Amino acid sequence: MECPKCKRGTLVKAHEDIVVEGIKLAERLEVEKCNRCGEEVLTVGQASKLRAAAEEAGIWGHEIRLRRKVSKIGKKSALYIPVDVERMLGLTHGREVEIRIIGKRMVVEAEE
Ligand SMILES: [Zn+2]
Repeated sequence: MECPKCKRGTLVKAHEDIVVEGIKLAERLEVEKCNRCGEEVLTVGQASKLRAAAEEAGIWGHEIRLRRKVSKIGKKSALYIPVDVERMLGLTHGREVEIRIIGKRMVVEAEE
């Protein structure tokens, strides 16, 4: 399968330790990994297990700040979601999200 990040590599099976903020969330997890850029692709099930492990380790919910420029798709404005965030929240194509506007903030929440 083609890598969703670099579009040039091929995804191959690999066993990886998943470490976030110095805490090992999973050991030798079987993932699909790009043989070119090293991007790891998790299934929705794996993403939710990692989320549970992150919650248990007390590191889930830490604020992550990103800067992005507003892009255009046709006549509409668009913001690209980084692959890491997509993976962390299990934002697979077609999944619904809730968008809330609070003053100048826009919160995008993946529905359970
Ligand atoms: Zn790649």
